[in-house]
Amino acid sequence: MPLDTASYEIPVARSAGDLREAVAGWRKDGLSVALVPTMGALHAGHISLVDLAREKVDRVIVSIFVNPTQFAPNEDFSAYPRTEAEDVGKLEGKADLIFAPNAADMYPEGFSTTVSLTGVTESLEGTFRPTHFAGVATVVAKLILRALPDIAIFGEKDWQQLMVIRRMVADLDIPVKILGGPIMREADGLAMSSRNVYLTPEERKAAGQLNVILRETADAVAKGTPISKATAEGGKRILALGFDKLDYLEVRDAASLAAFQGDKPEGSARILVAAKIGRTRLIDNMPV
Ligand code: AMP
Repeated sequence: MPLDTASYEIPVARSAGDLREAVAGWRKDGLSVALVPTMGALHAGHISLVDLAREKVDRVIVSIFVNPTQFAPNEDFSAYPRTEAEDVGKLEGKADLIFAPNAADMYPEGFSTTVSLTGVTESLEGTFRPTHFAGVATVVAKLILRALPDIAIFGEKDWQQLMVIRRMVADLDIPVKILGGPIMREADGLAMSSRNVYLTPEERKAAGQLNVILRETADAVAKGTPISKATAEGGKRILALGFDKLDYLEVRDAASLAAFQGDKPEGSARILVAAKIGRTRLIDNMPV
């Protein structure tokens, strides 16, 4: 399939073959390449990663693929917003190539391989979405191996995902540098997310307080409150806001995501939260 140069201002590759051909052309000219994987429904958080890529390399690829294998059957795969034309419009002047394959191209009949990790995947998101990280690791491995970029960029919004990808790339000797970009937030501090469109006005208001409680809980821990006491208090406050279920509110080692033994943080610590309000599940995290 040739590159699609007719639909939008930015050329779109729909298969591994056209992606590889475009990258090979750049490589021949000695240009460096970054990949920014996304599921589309782009917002300023995604765009900040593309801007970061632009600062680092000569050519930027943004992939747009709503990956079915990282959604469990009860999750929002079919409802997930799909806005390709708008997404490509937002990338004009920023990305050099869009990679937007379909599911049959990524997972042809007979596809049988899964990349799964132990350790870093075994708590937090891994507890509540047990098949999620195998889906993420497999699709990210494929995207990186298809594009073979110098760097791949991920958001700190999905902190555990970033740690999973760093681990996978190190373990499998995948020759790419992984960069994390800071979390972009709305005016009230709500972490930007493609899923925020699901929130009703009332839920949106409560959601804006999640980051405040996260910050205050982190500050309490930093000032010496035992982790279990601070997170129990923070968890109660999140439910009092109108959240329906708290999946977790935890302070963990920032890299390994292991729990701290003595109920107080050591070295680099991160606070992470996941909570549901109505039909929307929100996650956020910050340094302690
Ligand atoms: P997604 O489309 O939700 O899979 O996200 C694609 C990439 O954008 C992932 O690396 C996310 O971590 C990142 N991302 C999502 N939301 C934000 C945000 N608010 N700030 C920075 N990066 C983000």
